[in-house]
Amino acid sequence: MSTELIEPRDMNWIEKGVFGIEWSDGHKGVYPVRHLRLRCPCAGCTDELTGELRIKPDSIPLLIMLKDIEPVGRYALRLKWSDGHDTGIYTFSTLRRLCQCDICEPNKDKKAEKKASSRRLL
Ligand SMILES: [Zn+2]
Ligand SMILES: [Zn+2]
Repeated sequence: MSTELIEPRDMNWIEKGVFGIEWSDGHKGVYPVRHLRLRCPCAGCTDELTGELRIKPDSIPLLIMLKDIEPVGRYALRLKWSDGHDTGIYTFSTLRRLCQCDICEPNKDKKAEKKASSRRLL
């Protein structure tokens, strides 16, 4: 495994509520913001020892918005949320792991595929 540090090269909104990060290795990351909020790495949201989530999805507003992004050193981003939460510091490696693109999360489209094939007649 390469230990080369990857970092965001470009950031933009793919669509409303879906944030995109283009990484220095050319990978285009896809991040639905609610998904990011639910996986906030701060001690209040995620147990630091077990990595277990402490927040309940129900406690996060459905239309949570990303209000601000602040670089932390050269290794992380601090995300500020519309629910007032701003203690989550997402390291680049964490962010990369949370990517929801079709390459990183290939199972995501399985359902859609199934639906399409069931429509086929014999
Ligand atoms: Zn948090
Ligand atoms: Zn990806």
